Parts: sequence; structure tokens; C-alpha cells
Amino acid sequence: MTTIAYVASVAHELTAAERREALKQLFAQTRTCERCPELAKTRKTVVFGAGNADADLMFVGEAPGASEDEQGLPFVGRAGKLLEQLLGEIGLERADVFIANTLCCRPPGNRDPQPHEIENCSEYLMSKVELIQPKVICTLGNFSTKLLRGEPTGITRLHGQPEVITIGRRAVRLYPLYHPAAALYTPRMLETLHEDFSRIPGLLEMEPPEQPPPEEELEAVREAVLERGPAADQRAPLEASADTPTADQLGLF
Ligand code: URA
Repeated sequence: MTTIAYVASVAHELTAAERREALKQLFAQTRTCERCPELAKTRKTVVFGAGNADADLMFVGEAPGASEDEQGLPFVGRAGKLLEQLLGEIGLERADVFIANTLCCRPPGNRDPQPHEIENCSEYLMSKVELIQPKVICTLGNFSTKLLRGEPTGITRLHGQPEVITIGRRAVRLYPLYHPAAALYTPRMLETLHEDFSRIPGLLEMEPPEQPPPEEELEAVREAVLERGPAADQRAPLEASADTPTADQLGLF
């Protein structure tokens, strides 16, 4: 585990100011990243993400395009203008939210992100989520939706349906949406995107999802189970339910 991944994994014990400081350190670390040699060679800037380091709402798009690569900021082209408009319709602006991407670097010619690039960059994205601690994450399009859900169901089936998932050590409400760049060219999709967006304020008003128990508690339960065997009364807290993160998801056993 890298130092920053470790700091992110204990982020629930840090103050907002400490988490912001750690996010800045993560930003500094990504600026010279060479995990993807092709992207490191062809990019102009690393587009880390931008916005409120303590945001309740986070967006995760696909990858920087040419304008983002020039300016070092996410969603500054036409899709970004649409995202700003959609935010305005629910009474928010960019500075209220944090916007990131599945990849921090522009794929040359705007080709699709490659699986190994997504894998290389995912530690940064997970750490961002753990440090920012959003209540709701809107994935924009297929790449971020598949990555954060950890399975290949596409956005056409999933958009507009919130679910609680665990990212790193953080339980969040995931809300998949069509990608604004795709909606720019498809009126029906744009209409759906407006409708799905209008439900975001309601999600933000909900109680935040219950967080996984602190590591020490899980350790204690694990030790008890190993010592005494899984008695029925000890099994219950670890059993899966639709909304609670399972032991499997936490990679415990
Ligand atoms: N701009 C971004 O920053 N990300 C996208 O996914 C598309 C455009």
C-alpha cells in the first residue's frame, strides 16, 4: 500500500482540514505519475480533478479531452458547459461539488481508456473518494460506472438508479448518469439526463449511508470468530443485506 493509500484508508479519523491537506499531497503525487507510459508521454497536464475537497456530491467522468488537457481542469469543454447548466438547475455550482475522472490523463486522440490505464489510475480515484468523503457519487457514463460498481452492466440499464456501494473504506450512494458528452448529441438522452439530475437534491437530503465499522471492530469480530467458531449470534453482523457492505466487499475473509 502506498503512503497516500494508507492515509486515505484512515481518512475517517481525520478532520476536513487534514483530509484536504492529504488531497493536496495526492494531487502533487499524481502530477509526475508515469504509471501509464503512453499517457505520460502524450499528455500536457495531469487532470487530477477540481472542486470542494469536502463536497457531499462528487462526479466521476471518463477521461480528460483536449481542452481539459490544456487547462488541467476537468469538464471545461462543451460537456462541461452542459454539466454546469445541469448543476445550475438544481441550485449548485462547480465550486460546491468535486469533479474527477476515471483517468487523470488524456488518452491520445480521445480514444477509450484501456483497462490497464483504468487499473493504474484507480488507486488515485479511490483515495480521492476516501479523502473527500462524498455522500453521493454520480458516475457519468459507462467507464466510471463499471469501475466503481466492479461489474460490466452498462449505463443504459443503470442510469437514474441509486444504490449504496463501498469504495475503499467508504460507503457512498452511487448514482449513475448518462455522460453529458453523449447527451449533447442525443436529445432523448439529454431529456433523461435532466430528469435524472432533478433527483440529486433528494439523494443529498437522505441520511448518509451507514459506514463500515472501524477496522479495530472488524478485527475484534474476526478474532472472536476465529477463536470460537461462527456462532449464530456472532454471524449476524457480518451477513450480507442489500444495503450494508458485506464481509466479502471488505475483503476480510
Ligand atoms: N471532460 C472530462 O473531463 N471528462 C470527460 O469524461 C469528458 C470531458
